[in-house]
Amino acid sequence: MNKICMYDTKPYDKAFFDEINKNVYNNKFDITYYESKLVKKSAVLAKDFDVAIAFVNDKIDKETIDILYSLNVGLLAMRCSGYNNVDIKYAKGKIKVVRVPAYSPYAVAEYTMGMLLTLNRKIHRAYNRVREYNFSLNGLIGFDLKGKTIGIVGTGKIGKVFINVCKGFEMNILAYDAYPDTNSDIKYVEFDELCKQSDIISLHCPLTKGTKHIINENSIKSMKDGVIILNTSRGALIDSEALLQAIKDKKIGGAALDVYEEESDLFYEDNSDTIIQDDIIARLISMPNVFLSSHQAFLTKEALLNIASTTLENIEKYFKGEENENEIK
Ligand code: NAD
Repeated sequence: MNKICMYDTKPYDKAFFDEINKNVYNNKFDITYYESKLVKKSAVLAKDFDVAIAFVNDKIDKETIDILYSLNVGLLAMRCSGYNNVDIKYAKGKIKVVRVPAYSPYAVAEYTMGMLLTLNRKIHRAYNRVREYNFSLNGLIGFDLKGKTIGIVGTGKIGKVFINVCKGFEMNILAYDAYPDTNSDIKYVEFDELCKQSDIISLHCPLTKGTKHIINENSIKSMKDGVIILNTSRGALIDSEALLQAIKDKKIGGAALDVYEEESDLFYEDNSDTIIQDDIIARLISMPNVFLSSHQAFLTKEALLNIASTTLENIEKYFKGEENENEIK
């Protein structure tokens, strides 16, 4: 039996992994599910397992890797596409790392448009008002998306699907990518130019040293007054303090965020009984022109099925000793 442990498991993750394990692999994999995140302290729970499965807010730093290595865990299977939370350089030669490069770019792109429509047309506020029989329209004015310029940062799988979604709304599309797709008809500009010209900016690039705080005090200064920022990528692409200040200054007209710089201690958990110590997120949530959700853009049935099936396929290949293009090298 191939022994696998999975960290940061929610009931919906277990349901989809159990389904694929049963229907595709005849329950070949012996999976133990942990609710705890994979961090230094919980790494010891991987004792006697061949494979550890982890997720976006786990912290797989040098110390965590050392513990997994000492326990002879041979494979770290990330059940997500981003891997900014894994010290890949340090893992090299100690533990193989695989990921799920694409599980549903549609899930994330469609959600990004959902956030934009919610924020711009104040749907979140209308929903709350009507529940209290407040049928007033004051303060709910939005703008037509048709003819507005949207700047897409990162034109990979998700960015491209989102561009198509925006085309359906007859928006003007500009893009910036460190590695532009020269075979496409996408109109690329430099990042500075994108900031200057866009009415809406949407982030779809990975978090790297080069992209950390790509939205900061300086880049915000160069943007149009009233710009809307969308982030379904990674929280640390935005300097949250600078974002908050620009919202207070009314420079930024609105922000829809599915990710947050310091999300790992908050997201995916019920913190409703807790005194939140992070004043920036508390203040952001209090703003009428901020929409914040808990890293859920990926959460569709299709994506969860693809995550489970690609992760188990990655693990199957590892046990068979097969080459795998999903390995991060
Ligand atoms: P992808 O690898 O297909 O595309 C990323 C694009 O970013 C590529 O075109 C790449 O050239 C570009 N890029 C790389 N470095 C850049 C830089 N310095 N500046 C500008 N562009 C740069 O990835 P994807 O599948 O489209 O996913 C994009 C991001 O979305 C992921 O990195 C991940 O962080 C995030 N994501 C979020 C969720 C969610 O639920 N919120 C789900 C999946 C992915």
